Amino acid sequence: MNECLFCQIVRGEIPASIVYDDDEVLAFRDIQPAAPIHVLVIPRKHFAGFADALEEDTLLIGKLARAAARVAKQEGIAGSGFRTVVNSGPDAQQSVQHLHLHVLGGRQLSWPPG
Ligand code: AMP
Repeated sequence: MNECLFCQIVRGEIPASIVYDDDEVLAFRDIQPAAPIHVLVIPRKHFAGFADALEEDTLLIGKLARAAARVAKQEGIAGSGFRTVVNSGPDAQQSVQHLHLHVLGGRQLSWPPG
């Protein structure tokens, strides 16, 4: 059985505060929010990150971007602004090895990130 944390959320084995859900994509609130709105958008399919995506995942990656925009609208931050972040690998401090887009907003976000 796949022990990936986010796969367990996809399978409903670990509870999550789900804000969007379709056949290929799931979005849920980050358990340790870094902003007033902090949602993670993930593919149901497991792969660690962009570097592991296959040609056949191209459309799915587009759907993740569309879902992130949909979540931003739903959460009321599409107009005020939001940031979409994908951490890849150790230097970026990726802690869960299942592709996820962070959608952050609801406050002024500084740039560059740390
Ligand atoms: P990253 O550091 O980019 O890999 O982001 C992983 C994110 O997953 C972090 O922001 C964590 O707070 C979040 N996270 C870890 N476990 C859970 C969980 N059970 N439910 C929701 N978010 C989680």
